[in-house]
Amino acid sequence: MPKAQETVLEIDLKALKHNFEYIKSKLQKDTKVLAVVKAFAYGSHAETIANYLQDLNVDYFAVAYVSEGIALRNAGITKPILVLHPQAVNFKILIERCLEPSLYNSKVLNEFIAIASEEKQTNYPIHIKFNTGLNRLGFGQNDVEHIISKLKTTNSVIAKSIFSHLAASEDLSEKGFTNQQIKHFKTIAETFSKKIGYQPMLHICNTSGILNYPEAHLNMVRTGIGLYGFGNSKKENNHFNPIATLKSVISQIHSIEKGETVGYNRAYKSDTIVKTATIPIGHADGIGRQYGNGKGYVIINNKPAFIIGNVCMDMIMVDITNIDCNEGDEVIIFGSHPYSASEFSKTAQTISYEIITAISQRIKRVFLT
Ligand SMILES: *Cc1c(COP(=O)(O)O)cnc(C)c1O
Repeated sequence: MPKAQETVLEIDLKALKHNFEYIKSKLQKDTKVLAVVKAFAYGSHAETIANYLQDLNVDYFAVAYVSEGIALRNAGITKPILVLHPQAVNFKILIERCLEPSLYNSKVLNEFIAIASEEKQTNYPIHIKFNTGLNRLGFGQNDVEHIISKLKTTNSVIAKSIFSHLAASEDLSEKGFTNQQIKHFKTIAETFSKKIGYQPMLHICNTSGILNYPEAHLNMVRTGIGLYGFGNSKKENNHFNPIATLKSVISQIHSIEKGETVGYNRAYKSDTIVKTATIPIGHADGIGRQYGNGKGYVIINNKPAFIIGNVCMDMIMVDITNIDCNEGDEVIIFGSHPYSASEFSKTAQTISYEIITAISQRIKRVFLT
């Protein structure tokens, strides 16, 4: 791996392939894989990740918003793209770019059907989302009659899939609740398919669902965090390789005398002589202020250097009193185990999902193939 000369997010495409193959090894041969590439493919680089997975013959993609789907189409993605949370104001362009909406209540279902008919569509693929306990988006079981009767009045759209989302698939102490969600979804799916007279695809599992609930893989699984290298448990993390390494460099080293302070608001006051390194990454790059004042640490020459004082917009200062290092040396903020984003995020009481998606677009992405 090349030594960093500025702050970069290194993306290892071989690790992505490994993670994709590990997930596939958990599935039956005919279970389809949907890759979730919302939020810039969890902060990495959506266009590159999606193209790489398209070449590996992934079946489907999902994004959160229509604009993310358009970016993938512009980057040459031809596989189907599910838009998990589209807004009606974008339905026309969604159809123009052959994106497939998740529809989760009567309002958006009616609005979508109206626009699909206006646009003279027949059998436009839609995905009906059911709420089975997350209480975020989705129709309820009691809506099935109404959805079916609505769908029977039109040939503009066709239910390509029905799906739901698990609330606590990574949490084995919630197994009872998750099994209930799965059972509930299967009941809805059975009624729905019987009444509509054809069989839409069924899917409910995210990454932890795939790992912990093999009986719920159904026709397709939706994996996000796993592709990027996290298994949401100590045991499973060992099977995945984080694809992103956030690296930077030491810009300047300071010797701080006893009684001096470091950074804004003079938040760090030294009571002995300390050595600090200033690093060009800050809260505008995704390293929030909650990592400051001794919570988070970076790795310099294989040793932890704790962030001292407040995180600035474009810089952090770290304690290198006991580390042999020089200006220009490489700094790892997070990367492969044991210095993964998951471990880094724990120092600020958060999770891998948050830190990896927070890495600002101004940081250059570099790809390793
Ligand atoms: C984000 C998302 C996923 C991916 O979840 P992971 O835990 O990252 O695998 C799957 N399904 C839906 C509906 C999502 O919003």
